[in-house]
Amino acid sequence: MPTTKQSNRRATPAARVVGRAFSSAIVAWFADCGREFPWRRSRNPYEILMAEMMLRKTTATLVASVYSDFIRQYSSVFQLADAPLEDVRALLKPLGIAGRARLMVDAAEAIVLRYDGEVPADADELRSLPGVGTYTARAVQCFAFGKEVALVDTNVIRILRRALGIHGRRARAHTDPDVWAAADSLLPLRGVREYNLGLLDLGAMTCTANSPACQECPLSTMCVTYSCSDGLLRGRSVPAQILS
Ligand code: SF4
Repeated sequence: MPTTKQSNRRATPAARVVGRAFSSAIVAWFADCGREFPWRRSRNPYEILMAEMMLRKTTATLVASVYSDFIRQYSSVFQLADAPLEDVRALLKPLGIAGRARLMVDAAEAIVLRYDGEVPADADELRSLPGVGTYTARAVQCFAFGKEVALVDTNVIRILRRALGIHGRRARAHTDPDVWAAADSLLPLRGVREYNLGLLDLGAMTCTANSPACQECPLSTMCVTYSCSDGLLRGRSVPAQILS
């Protein structure tokens, strides 16, 4: 996978202009409309890693209902590594992800055993932890260590496809290195953290899968899908090209 700098160097001048407009719009929108969650106030790598592991395949609102209790009960990676699995499972049960408790405890044990209790900042070391894939590793790098890396999940892929016409070559776009490279090339010069959070929030609140609120979207003036379907959107159901 190319680095962010390599991706930026490959972008054409026109693509760089579009990328700058895109990222500026997201950062500005996030300053006004971004959501608040307890893990977003933290820079503690352990707390952020646990939040990101909980956030996979569930909603941030649901995670918020148990996150503070979880961090109070297991306030350090050492406490989680020693925790009885059943207790952790019980705490996560309201999220419907009780099965993830095993991975979280295993990851904590690995951090204690291999890294003396310090969550690693290196992407390969993060990915070597149980239950940690590319997305989670990058989220920890960005939100805990301030690294300038893009995040690509289902919501982000949808926005990139609709707004900029970026399509992966693989059916599972989040596994496509070209999509990750395109996402890296769009990173702003400043405010990468706010940009990543803004994209996640825009996908959850505005450019949703089934009912995008295009007329309230900060990308509407540059969105290739919206500009091709503007007339259809006014007062009518969402056209098929937006939902594709
Ligand atoms: S204008 Fe509509 S389709 Fe385009 S990015 Fe915004 S919400 Fe999504």
